[in-house]
Amino acid sequence: MTYGAGIAKGLMVTMRNLFRKPTTVQYPEERLPQHPRFRGEDFVWYEERCTGCASCAKYCPLGIIKIVTSPSGTQTQEGEKYRLEVFDIDIARCMFCGLCVEACPYDALHMGSGFERGRYARNDLTIHIDELKSAPKRPSTWFRPQLEAKGYDPFSGETVPWQGVSRASKNDPTKEEMDSRWVERQ
Ligand code: SF4
Ligand code: SF4
Repeated sequence: MTYGAGIAKGLMVTMRNLFRKPTTVQYPEERLPQHPRFRGEDFVWYEERCTGCASCAKYCPLGIIKIVTSPSGTQTQEGEKYRLEVFDIDIARCMFCGLCVEACPYDALHMGSGFERGRYARNDLTIHIDELKSAPKRPSTWFRPQLEAKGYDPFSGETVPWQGVSRASKNDPTKEEMDSRWVERQ
């Protein structure tokens, strides 16, 4: 082998890449576009929609959602609404499979789009009810075709109120209609 051929070969690789457009970005100043269905490491929870049924907690294969409820004394005619006292998700053990989101019958729980919840201690990774309540409502469109149909993109910065995430159609009965039907059956 000619002496120095290896160096020339190596330099050729260097020269070839020297003028290439870089594929890396200067995170966090620069960010790559994310798909609206991207599942982050947080959750979007709508307290207004949540009945405290705990379906999400029961479906979680890892049992990392803790829900504690108590009677609220409201909406007793419909069977009474639970008051949510604890709603904790231990994302230190979460595999972000989304089964809890699939299990929610009321579109109250959605995957989030955030990915910057790094902490130094595992215990600090648990998302408590207060954080869920106050977090910006930018749900991932994963498993939410109703949001995709509206062209919603959580990375646009736009938030969605609790009335806007429902899979119910305009033709579904209103709450008043359902209440009156329930009363008529008595
Ligand atoms: S995403 Fe999966 S592992 Fe995480 S809380 Fe939901 S069901 Fe459990
Ligand atoms: S988030 Fe959904 S599944 Fe979980 S307790 Fe609330 S209504 Fe039930």
